Order: sequence, then structure tokens, then C-alpha cells
Amino acid sequence: MPDRKRALWAVAEQTRGKLASVTPEVLGQARRLAAEAGGCEVAAILLGKDVGALANDLLACGADKVFLVEDPALELYQNDTYGTVLHRLIRREQPEVVLFGATAVGEELAPTVAARLGTGLGAHCTNLALAPDGLLTMGVLGFGGRLHTEMFCPDRRPQMASVKPGMFPPLPREEGNGEILREEASALLSGADIRIRTVRIVKEEPEGMPLEDADVIVAGGWGIGGKENWRLLTELARELSGATGCTRPALDEGWTDGEHTMIGTSGKTVRPKVYLGFGISGSPHHTVGIKDAGVIISINSDPRAPVFECSDYCVEADFRKILPLLLSEIRRAKVPA
Ligand SMILES: Cc1cc2nc3c(=O)[nH]c(=O)nc-3n(C[C@H](O)[C@H](O)[C@H](O)COP(=O)(O)OP(=O)(O)OC[C@H]3O[C@@H](n4cnc5c(N)ncnc54)[C@H](O)[C@@H]3O)c2cc1C
Repeated sequence: MPDRKRALWAVAEQTRGKLASVTPEVLGQARRLAAEAGGCEVAAILLGKDVGALANDLLACGADKVFLVEDPALELYQNDTYGTVLHRLIRREQPEVVLFGATAVGEELAPTVAARLGTGLGAHCTNLALAPDGLLTMGVLGFGGRLHTEMFCPDRRPQMASVKPGMFPPLPREEGNGEILREEASALLSGADIRIRTVRIVKEEPEGMPLEDADVIVAGGWGIGGKENWRLLTELARELSGATGCTRPALDEGWTDGEHTMIGTSGKTVRPKVYLGFGISGSPHHTVGIKDAGVIISINSDPRAPVFECSDYCVEADFRKILPLLLSEIRRAKVPA
């Protein structure tokens, strides 16, 4: 039998026929890893209903081939059905590496599939490397973000990792002439596998400007201390036509609108022109998400706050003095003379 090429897989994510922005990033990184290790093939896996048109996009984003599984039961992401199809496809094809985007979907799907396959998963990777012998290095922040740690999965295959959105740039699109392999859905999913029925879809639109679209982000952390003070942050963001972001503790305290406002390893990676951080210590779990911001301005009462090390402007002060002052100055400047 001829030697099979080692394969790197990227699980594509789509909603209502639109690819998630992380998918080209994951494919781009798979392509770079394939080049690093030499002699690997890159495949994308696309699941859904009537999503065939996206297969060409996946080829243009770096895939050599696309496994396309279309079925009405796959119209909406469901952990059970998607997990079953992926598990069976991976077991059949035995790729060396499988990558997911660390999105809400990927964060649920990747561990489900890894557990079914009995293999390991490096979650929220911010760095990946592939050795010529096929061993994947999965870089994550560990120990409260104080250390960059590397994980390996030497004894089980495939090696699986989820990568943070915004960490790896996509490759320039190049119209590819790869293969699209239409899989027979019935061979991968039977009626007995479909145990969940969608009754109703409720779409909740988050309020305010999405962090990804904002030129200015006003972010707050644990130092803000309460909901009343948080209101001032959102007012400042509004005055600057920006968005409000937060750290994990501020989210956990319920001061913010929700998960979509968190920046960092388990939150979003953002690229505003200006980022203003109030009462944020600068844990790498947070700062990894702002490393590409244009100008970083930090306001913290502790002169030794680590956030000052990665800030362009450091304001050592109590935010309770600075924030109202800033608000009134901005409002004054807006009043026509
Ligand atoms: C696996 C894992 C994933 C994580 N993912 C994320 C993530 O995605 N995003 C994230 O943000 N965190 C994440 N965390 C948590 C992260 O490690 C930190 O705990 C968190 O970022 C700290 O948030 P903070 O800076 O708001 O709070 P703190 O570290 O408590 O800092 C508060 C700061 O406020 C300052 N302060 C207090 N009072 C004032 C005042 N009156 N005026 C000015 N400054 C003041 C203090 O000097 C201090 O520096 C994660 C943790 C783990 C273990």
C-alpha cells in the first residue's frame, strides 16, 4: 500500500451559510504547520445543510481538500450530531492533527470529539508548532497566565487543539483547485443518532457595538468595584463612539452585558485603534487579547501593576478621579462654542 500523506484537519464553522471568521485563520495555521513539518496535506471538514458553496472558499483559504457533509439534520449546530459525524469521519480517515476555532461552538465540540476518540485536546492555544516527526506543540497560557506552557499529546492520535480567534492571520485567498469530497451523510449519521430536536430559535442580539468593530475600547476590571462605577465606563465608551470591554472578574461579577464583552484568552482578541483599561492588573490572560491594539492607555492606582509594562500611556491614579474628569472634559469639548 502506498504511504498515506499525513493529514492536518481544520474543522470549519459556519452559521446560516456564512463561514466564521476563525475558520480561515485555523486553515491558514494548518497550512503553515504543514509547511513546517513537510509532506502534510491540509483538509477542511464542513458540516451543514446546503453549504456546498462554502467548500470553494475553504479551498481558497488553504485546504487541499474538503470533506463536505450535508444533511437537514446538520442545518443547525448541535453537539450530539456534529460530534457523531466528526468522530466517525476522524476514526475512518485518521488524520494526524485536528484543529478547531476556540469559539462557543468549538469550545464545546472539540472536547466532545476528543473524549469520544480517547485523545487529548489543547484548548485555547495561542501558539502551535509541528515537528517533522508529526508531534504537535500546543502553546497556552498557564498558571493564571503567568507562564507560557507547552502541551504535547505523544501517545494518542489525532492530536487535537482549539485555537483562539484572532491569534493566527489567515492566508491571502488563492483560488485553489483542490478536491471536494461529498460524504454520504447517512453513512455517518443515522436517525437513531439524532436525539435532540430544535423546537424554537431565539436570537438574542447583544446590545452596543461589537468589540471587533470598535476603533475605541473602554475596558474595565475588578478594580472598578461595582455596577454603579461601571455605568461611567459605558458612558465614556458611548461618548467616544466605542465599545465597553471587560476582564474575567468583571464579567463574573455581572457588571457587564455578558460574555461577548470579555477580552482575553477565553474572550475576544481585539484590535482597536485605542484601548483604555481602567482597574485592570494586566494578567497575560487578558493582555493576550489586546496585543494588537494601536495605543494602550492604562489607568491603575498601583504603580507596580503589570499592565503598565505593555501600555503606551500609564496613568497611575485612582480611576474614580480620572474617569469623571475625562467624561466631563470630553463632553465640554463636544459642546459647540
Ligand atoms: C484558564 C483561564 C482563562 C482566563 N481567561 C481570561 C480572559 O479571557 N480574560 C480575562 O480578563 N481574564 C481571564 N482569566 C483571569 C485572569 O487570569 C485574571 O485573573 C484577570 O484578568 C484579572 O482581572 P482584573 O485585572 O480585572 O483583576 P485584578 O487582577 O484583581 O486587578 C484589579 C486591578 O485594579 C486596580 N485597582 C483597584 N482599585 C483601583 C482604583 N480605584 N483605581 C485604579 N485601579 C484600581 C488594582 O491595582 C489591580 O491592578 C483567565 C484565567 C484562567 C485561569
